Formats: sequence, structure tokens, C-alpha cells
Amino acid sequence: MLIVKKFGGTSVANKERIYNVAKRCIEDYKKGNKVVVVLSAMGDTTDDLIAKAKEINPDPPKREMDALLSTGEQISVALMAMAMAKLGVPAVSLNAFQVVMHTTHHHLNARFKKVDTDRINAELDQGRIVIVTGFQGVNRYDDVTTLGRGGSDTTAVALAAVLNADACEIYTDVDGVYTADPRIVPDARKLKEISYDEMLELATLGAQVLHNRSVEMAKKYNVPLVVRSSLTNAEGTVVKEVTKMESMLVSGVAADKDAARIAIIGLKNTPGIAFRVFDLLAKKNINVDMILQSIGREDSKDISFTVDQTQAKEAVQILKENQERLTFQKLVEEENVAKLSIVGAGMQSNAGVAAKMFEALADVGVNIRMISTSEIRITVLIDIDDVNVAMKSVHDAFIN
Ligand code: ASP
Ligand code: MG
Repeated sequence: MLIVKKFGGTSVANKERIYNVAKRCIEDYKKGNKVVVVLSAMGDTTDDLIAKAKEINPDPPKREMDALLSTGEQISVALMAMAMAKLGVPAVSLNAFQVVMHTTHHHLNARFKKVDTDRINAELDQGRIVIVTGFQGVNRYDDVTTLGRGGSDTTAVALAAVLNADACEIYTDVDGVYTADPRIVPDARKLKEISYDEMLELATLGAQVLHNRSVEMAKKYNVPLVVRSSLTNAEGTVVKEVTKMESMLVSGVAADKDAARIAIIGLKNTPGIAFRVFDLLAKKNINVDMILQSIGREDSKDISFTVDQTQAKEAVQILKENQERLTFQKLVEEENVAKLSIVGAGMQSNAGVAAKMFEALADVGVNIRMISTSEIRITVLIDIDDVNVAMKSVHDAFIN
């Protein structure tokens, strides 16, 4: 078998943990498997590097950020290869240039275009464990890129896809995918399995377990994933195409505190206005999420929407610069909001799911500010201070 194993930052945070990971990989290797290991940067390394950069320059060039951030993963792979060598097992570390993991040019947010397999296969054929840097790639200018925070998961899935791996195991500090964040909802349950679509919604909506693009890619190339703990032998959660669903209507509740709401008030009520607003934002690559349009007074309308907090300032700025052309009166930006979502493939064929969610929110006095839905998801925008009670109440209503 060819197995891709990915370990997150906490799993390689110190010497003991590095050896722990090395031993887990060696176990598979000794059983005769080919083993490819993908690592994140140790512990808080990436956060520390970001802080260091900001000390030098609060608005650092993105290219240089990638040059800096990519070093974190280089450290962990080299140390891991040393640990394996010490344990008497042949291993080799490779970075994105050595593998060649080709990406788009977008610094800090690159996507894989193509991943070469020659070098990795050659190393595997030599009987080595291959340890690859997560989170990074090379663009067409031969510059190093990174994939966005949490991107090592995507490296693992990309490698599993191109190498035609038999298994892709994502090891982390939790032992699987839960119905809600157990730190907020203590009686959250671990799921045995979850579908790609549900996992994708959850990952996009704030569940931290998997990088959402890794799930997207796993679905596209049909790579079955297992999310497990690196510290225990607990079974973990399988992410795959079809699931038995455990007959659950809702398989998870997720919260995203990284949202901001922008309200544009007093737009002229004529055709083409919404187009002008969102086209401007799209041209700046600003991702807009929930959108609400309402009738204002006289001949005006209001449009509000949410964006990631990191993009809010830029969105406000570009809108303000175009105030005259867009014909609005006022702009209001709020950052003290959060998105709370329920996700479940079962809701497609069941009436009353939304009502039940809204009831659970009403029960604890939580006000809903915006609502959006997809076939398998309902998201509400609420005050950030309400997130924990809201999550507990909604989780209670559907899962316990
Ligand atoms: N080290 C990177 C981060 O902290 C990538 C990863 O861990 O997946 O975001
Ligand atoms: Mg992660």
C-alpha cells in the first residue's frame, strides 16, 4: 500500500512528538508500505513568523511573506528525517521545489496546478520514507508560494491524488470530526463518517479540522480521507462520498467568528446597482457571502452582505471611493458578528429544519440578523457574543 500521512503543527511541536510521529510512520513502513509524510510547521511557528514579519513591516510584501512562512515546514521535515535516521530507517525530506509542487502565482493563497511524482516515486523505490513540506508550492516564476493557513492538509490530499495513494490520513490534535467544537459544546459527538459535501460546508464555515480546499480536492479526485489523532489510537472520522449518515438530519454545527457585515444604505432603486456593487468587490477579489437586499424609504434600497474580517477594510474603502457612482447615502461596517451554521445532507428531504433552528435560537434569546441557505446548510448571522449559547442550543435541538 502507499499511504500519505499528514501531521499538523501540534503533532510535531517538540522532540518527543517528533519521535512519536516518526515511530507511527515507521510502523507502517515496517509492514511493507510505501509511506509519504506531509508535515506542518512545529507548534506556533507560523504564527510566530507572521508576528516577526509584522514587527519589521506591518504590511509586508506577499512574496517575502511566502519566503518567510515556507521556512516553518522546512524545519519540521528536516528534523523528522533526522529522527527517522536516528531510529535507523532511511528517510528523505523534500521541499516543494524538490518534489516540484506547481501552484498558481498568488502569494499567500496559491492553488495547486500540477504535482510531479518522479522524485517522490524514485525515493520510495529506493526504500525511503519521503517527508514533504506541507503548505507550500512553486509558481511559474520559480518563487515559493503558500496555500493559505491550514494548507498542509491540501498538500497531503494533492499528493495522495497524484500518487494514487491507498490511504490519506490526516493526523491532528483532535481525534476526528465532531458535531460541534467540543470546547464549546462538551457533549458534541465524534462522527464515524461524513460526506465530502458536508465536510466541505463545515470546513468553509469555521470548523477548523480540515483546510476546505483539501476537502474540495479530495472530492474531486475521490481520495478517501481519515481524520485522526496523532496522540491516541482512536479510530477517527472517515470523509468520503457516500455515508450511512447515522440517520442524522444535521451532522454538524459550526461557527465562524471571522465575519464582518457591511450595510450599504440608501442605494438608488434602479436596475444594475447590485451588479455595480458586487462587480467592484469581485474585481478586488473580495469574497462576498451572505447577501440581503431590502426596500428602504422612497425610491431607495439597502444591501447588506458579509465578508471575511480580513477583507472588510478593503471592501469599505473601495465602496467609499465609488460612493457617487453607486449612489448610496451611508455605509455601516460591523465586526462584532459571527456566522452560525448547521450542515447535514439529511435536511434536503426534510421540512421544518430551518424552523427548528430558529426556534432553538429564539429559546435562548438570540437575534438573527441575516439568513442564508444551501441544499445542505443553513447559516445565520448573529452577534458574536451570542455564539456559544447559540451553538449549544442549536446542537441540543438537533443532535442530542
Ligand atoms: N503551518 C501552516 C499554518 O499554520 C500550514 C498548516 O499548518 O497547515 O497555517
Ligand atoms: Mg490544520
